[in-house]
Amino acid sequence: MNYIDVRSDTVTEPTKAMRDAMYIAKVGDDVYEDDPSVKELELLAATITGKEAALFVPSGTFGNQLALFTHCKRGSEVILSDSSHIVVHEVGAASVIAGVQLRTIDSIDGIISPADVLKRIRKGNDIHFPETSLICMENAHSNGRVIPLSNMSEIYSIAKEYNLPVHLDGARLFNASTYLNKDPKEITKYCDSVMFCLSKGLCAPVGSILAGDKDFIRKARKNRKLMGGGLRQSGFLAAAGIVALNDMVQNLKYDHENAKLLAQELSKIPQIKINLKDVHINMVFFEIDLDDNKSEEIVGFFYENGIKINPPEDGEMRFVTNYWVDKNDIEKIVSTLKSFINRHR
Ligand SMILES: *Cc1c(COP(=O)(O)O)cnc(C)c1O
Repeated sequence: MNYIDVRSDTVTEPTKAMRDAMYIAKVGDDVYEDDPSVKELELLAATITGKEAALFVPSGTFGNQLALFTHCKRGSEVILSDSSHIVVHEVGAASVIAGVQLRTIDSIDGIISPADVLKRIRKGNDIHFPETSLICMENAHSNGRVIPLSNMSEIYSIAKEYNLPVHLDGARLFNASTYLNKDPKEITKYCDSVMFCLSKGLCAPVGSILAGDKDFIRKARKNRKLMGGGLRQSGFLAAAGIVALNDMVQNLKYDHENAKLLAQELSKIPQIKINLKDVHINMVFFEIDLDDNKSEEIVGFFYENGIKINPPEDGEMRFVTNYWVDKNDIEKIVSTLKSFINRHR
């Protein structure tokens, strides 16, 4: 059975064009910097993000942690939002790999205030203080919202005033640029390094990119080796990544349209609470009034109806549209949810 899968955009399988490109990819040993496909992908990624160089890495988490590891001295401090992926969803890796302390800022809708960033930058030579070594931002935020560029710009200026690097977790960078209808460089100009995922909405099977200036990427390449991310004939994966960047970015707008459609239909169901203004990209968050035992049941009910979903977390559900979910699938998801609610009323 072919399931409709809205658990995440990470579930996307490669397209036919990707499979074909992987089959015929020219490869070499990338630790020797001999893989032409990886080189091509890295050059393309650097160009698209307006950075001097880029590095292919196994995952988004790897790319973020490699950025922290490369930017920061052990025992230094990284300033970022309390709701950021690096804080919430990366297994505490920052304390293990880079050995840094995460100094979080309360965020509203994923947005941190520039004044709060300024307040947390360590100033002076007090021997009690760790050194501030990095500021991180995330856009699009994993709450499905796109952070305004004005906010990024203000935080970037503050960082530069204090000579601090800025890293952007741009796992969904192209979803953000699609929503803003801007070139990705208009976003990445407010950071010194950026990570983005090839393996989410862009459908590549594996991989992310870390981009930055030449010196940073040279150091990151060695740190990537230390972390076990020196891959050999990774050109097979890079070949899919090249198709992702060339062919798939322009499709994200359909994922966003489908998410909007889904959100609008859900908003008509009385038992569902949803803020349509929060739906910027391919993610639809909503609250549903269910008893605890029903939250287990809903996953099973959807599965029986050919749809894979994640269970609600604290009453909140998340459906993520992607390349393999079309308008008819959206209708099926909505009608399935309606029959679940009717069954349990
Ligand atoms: C998915 C995601 C990552 C991590 O990517 P993986 O490839 O799953 O490790 C990092 N940051 C954000 C915002 C993400 O959504």
